[in-house]
Amino acid sequence: MINIAKGTQDLLPEVTSDWQYVENKLREIAQNYNYKEIRTPIFEHTELFTRGVGGSTDIVQKEMYTFTDKGDRSITLRPEGTAPVVRSYIENKMHGYANQPIKLFYEGPMFRYERKQKGRYRQFVQFGVEAIGAEDPAIDAEIIAMVMDIYQSFGLKKLKLYINSIGDIDSRSEYNKALVEHFKPSIEEFCSDCQQRIDTNPMRILDCKKDREHRLVKSAPRIYDYLNDDSKQYFEQVKLYLDQLGIDYEVDTNLVRGLDYYTHTAFEVMSDAEGFGAITTLCGGGRYNGLLEMLDGPNETGIGFALSIERLLLALEAEGIEIEHDDALDLFIATLDEDSKQYAVQLLHRLRKAGVKADTDYKSRKLKGQMKQADRERAKYTIVLGENEIKNQQVKLKDMNDGGEHVIELSSLTDELKERLS
Ligand code: ATP
Ligand code: MG
Repeated sequence: MINIAKGTQDLLPEVTSDWQYVENKLREIAQNYNYKEIRTPIFEHTELFTRGVGGSTDIVQKEMYTFTDKGDRSITLRPEGTAPVVRSYIENKMHGYANQPIKLFYEGPMFRYERKQKGRYRQFVQFGVEAIGAEDPAIDAEIIAMVMDIYQSFGLKKLKLYINSIGDIDSRSEYNKALVEHFKPSIEEFCSDCQQRIDTNPMRILDCKKDREHRLVKSAPRIYDYLNDDSKQYFEQVKLYLDQLGIDYEVDTNLVRGLDYYTHTAFEVMSDAEGFGAITTLCGGGRYNGLLEMLDGPNETGIGFALSIERLLLALEAEGIEIEHDDALDLFIATLDEDSKQYAVQLLHRLRKAGVKADTDYKSRKLKGQMKQADRERAKYTIVLGENEIKNQQVKLKDMNDGGEHVIELSSLTDELKERLS
């Protein structure tokens, strides 16, 4: 027997309706905020991610599915959505579109070679949005508001929003110097990754999972003290908008994104529901003012976030929220003999074409077995077809909810059902 690859999962029919519900809702909310869907390929040139995600990140250093294709090109299964969206924006010259900013959302599988644990897969589905072409604190607030709206609309309550500003490029180069001074003398006490980060990407030491509790991480200089006036003002405005929208947040000064092209706003949503497990981050996002130029694009700026549907579903489970959906059958047709079966097949075809969700028996079950089948499918109505029904062109339509039976002309069955179901 061949088993599923590690870190991946089959979504069986029992759960795909939950997924469809979640996906539809995400699309609906994104559309309310006037974001339009973009679909980019599952694989890209590796260089897009080494440049666009950054060579010093875990993603690029450890997690990419990279291979050489038959044309000798280095190809990578996308580990995230922002770099591909920005590539497409640049390639398709979207900065020339009349309506700005360009507001996009995407949804689809991402691939990262990670250690499997609860809430961490090697193939997972991200939903994300990007607003490119406007540097305005109001759009930062809009993006954050949308994230919170998304989680709250599913009924989640145990949410924490953390925000921070990592300033503009000038502010950050001062801050990085201060971090190097702070950590350098004792850098041997840190993990091997951090010993590299001190040279490549010192801010990343602050969100290292291994060294999180180190006294020097806790006493590290705070970015806020290094923000120049413009950066401070930008942050204050974002917070003001959030206050006006009644959105609760906490400023976490250690919330950083190390790479040069991340600027200003950074945020994360966590679940503090009991039983969620070790991984509590639901979503991450931030502003990237240098990314477009890093990818040889125009001097435009963007902001976005990404969440995974897997962790959204885990959060729902942790808070005991069940998704309700209507996947019950409208009508089950039971048959008593071969002739009525033939009739049923034609009737089914007509009903389905008219938009009625209907089914019948294909396993030659006895009537009792067929009715059990109807129950399992949670059929709202049933009819039994036999010689008499076909001869008289009349059936008893049974309402499975209240047990009521209604004699109906076969010719008006579709109309009757449609009326009752509406
Ligand atoms: P983490 O710190 O958990 O590794 P990350 O910083 O790598 O997260 P991002 O790249 O910011 O995560 O991705 C955004 C969101 O995608 C995360 O907040 C999380 O909800 C989700 N996510 C990331 N990696 C995985 C994964 N391997 N499986 C499922 N969901 C994931
Ligand atoms: Mg990760």
